[in-house]
This record gives sequence, structure tokens and C-alpha cells, in this order.
Amino acid sequence: MYVDIHTHQVPKTDSFAIQNLTVLEAKTILTTEKQGYFSVGCHPWFIEQYTEQTLEQIKNWTMDLRTVLIGECGLDKNSNVQFQTQVTVFEKHIEFSEKAKKPLIIHCVGSFNELFEIKRRLKPTQLWIIHGFRGKPELAKQALKLNCALSFGLHYNPESVKITPLEKIYIETDESSINIVDLYQQISIIKTCKVEDLFAGKRLIECHQLK
Ligand SMILES: [Zn+2]
Repeated sequence: MYVDIHTHQVPKTDSFAIQNLTVLEAKTILTTEKQGYFSVGCHPWFIEQYTEQTLEQIKNWTMDLRTVLIGECGLDKNSNVQFQTQVTVFEKHIEFSEKAKKPLIIHCVGSFNELFEIKRRLKPTQLWIIHGFRGKPELAKQALKLNCALSFGLHYNPESVKITPLEKIYIETDESSINIVDLYQQISIIKTCKVEDLFAGKRLIECHQLK
């Protein structure tokens, strides 16, 4: 029930967590028989380390049955990588997500206008999940209006959680060591619902298992 949709830690074997892999990690994990749920992509901080060939590799991994989400990928105004390059690489990931029919897990810092512009322009069919969402309700409203889902972790704005419909709420630990169960409990209190009503992550895993 406590699905953690985005973590950089190696999950415990009995947990339902989607482990995010860098390209280097994917090389050592997805080339083996290791079972698990993964996301793989190119983080906007590290794009310069990647070549066309790396993107080709990511594309192949997105087809791997263990890959649940494409990313994390996205746009970050604090990244040293040229913004236009970030956009180009992000649009590649959108293409992969559409092709593999798997949702995107998005990292977005200071670039929401650009992110929304790309969504309006490309009209993707796959779900976009904005991970580690800390924005205010105004920003949450804009994202939700464009049909994005929001993933909440260690830091979030409770007012934004309040206005997000249950089916659009995902929960993650990311780089923190917070217990996923605690996060589900916190969010359920804010939403005045039962923990089991926070079903979006569970449904994501179930849909994936049917594939
Ligand atoms: Zn992350």
C-alpha cells in the first residue's frame, strides 16, 4: 500500500519502491537479472556527461519490463547546463515516455512556465508526475489544470496537498531517510482521508504489473 514512487536509495526487498537510476547505475543494474521497479533517465544537472549514445541507451532501458517511470528528467534553472540543451534532452525523454507508454517523473526547479509551455505544445498522452513538489497552491493549481500529477516528499506545502485530488497525489522519499509510512500518514491527515485512500502510487504499480 505504501508505494514510494521515487527514491535514490536501494529499496528493501519487500517494499514497493521505484528506485531511480542514473545511467551509470542502470548500466550495473539493468544489465543484470536483478528484479525491482526502476526509473531511468537523465537528470538536468548531469546532462553534460551524456552523449547521443547515452540517450540511445536510455531509450532502450525505457523498454525494459522493470522500468516503471521515465526520468527523473526535466528543467532546472540552477543547473550549469545551458537551458536550451536541457529542453532538448527533456523533449527526448517525453518522446521515450510516449513510445514506451510509461509516465514521466519530472524534476523542475524555477522552470514551471517553460515546463507548462512544453506540455501545452506537445500534448503528451502519458502522465507527467512532478516529483518533490514544494510549490504553493497557485502553482499546484496550474499544474493540475494541465493534468499533471504531484509527488510529495519530505518538504511540501500542506495547502498544495489540500487542493490536490487523491488520484493526483503520489508520495516519495527521494534522497531523504524519512519513512514512507510516516509520509503517507502525514498526507492522509492533511487530506482527512484514510491512508488506503492514497491509492495513486499503488495503482501505478498495478497498471505496470499488467503490462
Ligand atoms: Zn530525485
